[in-house]
Amino acid sequence: MHKRNAILLLGIFSIIILIAAQIIIIKGVWRQKDEMLNLRYRLFCQDAIELLARQWSTDGFDTARMIIGSKSEMVLKMMAEKKTDTLSAEERKDLFDYVSLALNKEEDLSAFLSRYFELRGIDKDFTSRIVINRFELVDYDRRIPVYMSEEFASRMLARSDTARRNTPPPDMRRQARSNEIMIKRFGNEYNFYRLDFEFGIDFSDKQKMILREIATSLGLSLFSIILVVSLFIVTYRNLMEEKRLSNLKTDFINNMTHELKTPLSTITVAGRTLEMPIIRTNEEKILETAKMIGKQSVHLNQLINMILEISMWERTQFQLEKKRMRIQDLLNEIIFSFKSGGGKGAVIECKYDFGDLEVDLDPIYFTTMINNLLSNAVKYCDTDPVIEIEGFIRDNNIIISIADNGIGISKNDQKRVFDKFYRASSGNIHKYKGLGLGLYYVRKIAEAHEGDVTVSSKPGKGSIFTITLPL
Ligand code: ADP
Repeated sequence: MHKRNAILLLGIFSIIILIAAQIIIIKGVWRQKDEMLNLRYRLFCQDAIELLARQWSTDGFDTARMIIGSKSEMVLKMMAEKKTDTLSAEERKDLFDYVSLALNKEEDLSAFLSRYFELRGIDKDFTSRIVINRFELVDYDRRIPVYMSEEFASRMLARSDTARRNTPPPDMRRQARSNEIMIKRFGNEYNFYRLDFEFGIDFSDKQKMILREIATSLGLSLFSIILVVSLFIVTYRNLMEEKRLSNLKTDFINNMTHELKTPLSTITVAGRTLEMPIIRTNEEKILETAKMIGKQSVHLNQLINMILEISMWERTQFQLEKKRMRIQDLLNEIIFSFKSGGGKGAVIECKYDFGDLEVDLDPIYFTTMINNLLSNAVKYCDTDPVIEIEGFIRDNNIIISIADNGIGISKNDQKRVFDKFYRASSGNIHKYKGLGLGLYYVRKIAEAHEGDVTVSSKPGKGSIFTITLPL
């Protein structure tokens, strides 16, 4: 039990380590691919930007800069008229929004990049993003910046005011967009303003692109995990099955010894009795003892034959000698001899009427099969046994069911009772004698006739064994 748990724990532990290692490897590969993808696009973009500058002498933001220039001039004029060098918060916000709108709407770089990517045959579905780092109005008469953009101002503030740790760093927004690839930083001074911004592109299905690239390694590592897990499950199950079989064999040997010992000790005692001088003169006693020896030898022989026969099936196929039989007569015969033999005290109710129906079957094996079920019905019964035998034809099959009022079989044992050597209630194994072969025999015989046998049972209520044989 402890060894089993240790193996199970070790197995689960190794599988967890394997999965963790695979996750780490895949994460590494993912990061690498992500960086390579970024690099590739950045290089492509640089090429594109150079081409744009060479052929059209622009960086794609000329229109935007012109618009921002005239707006700045207007604002500065308005400030000069008002004789002020500051703007109200609202005016500043308006100005900032205007600048970012102009940059975003009037830039030509995105369209150019898209066309360039298309020509190169790479993914062209991206969204562009512009982050303004700094915007200042510059009054050239006074040569000072009169207005700084909110963001730039707040950055300066955060840098100087390190004591206020609870304010989030102002460039948090940028880090949040991990998919974005920063392409270029544009910054310069123009008429009436200074502007510094970054241009980035963002592939919404970048994850998909990476996934496509690492699909093989991901698939292989998933496959290896599944393979190892299944191998582990199969090995563990085999181990448990072997353990179960070896336990069953030990039980079987114990039971067999027990079964064989009973007739043997009776014979030994009988032999000693025959040696006694008083007995030797009593003919009646001699006859009685001899009969007992005979009966016990037959029983012993039956037991040994059964074991031999079963070990023979393991090696060769079952050989049936089928005959055409009237099933009604055969069943009646079996039940009649059972009543006068092992089933003496049992009440047997016969509810079948097969009429003149004739079936091909091996009468000896068929008799053994029914007998095993009947004797189990008597053996596994703690009160007066009442056995009900039903029989009918359904879907071209002969159905014979044998119901008893015995101790019943638990759900768990029901799955196993037809297995070789299996005995339910192994805790109390000697209360009901047996070798765990009777039902195994029943199933083998039913299968040899191309039929099968099933059980349904409720512990404490009784069991019903149903044999189905094809016509
Ligand atoms: P054996 O009787 O020699 O133990 P069997 O193969 O005939 O072996 O039966 C296997 C097990 O199934 C038995 O140990 C018993 O626990 C259970 N069993 C079989 N028939 C019945 C029955 N009619 N009622 C209750 N339990 C049964």
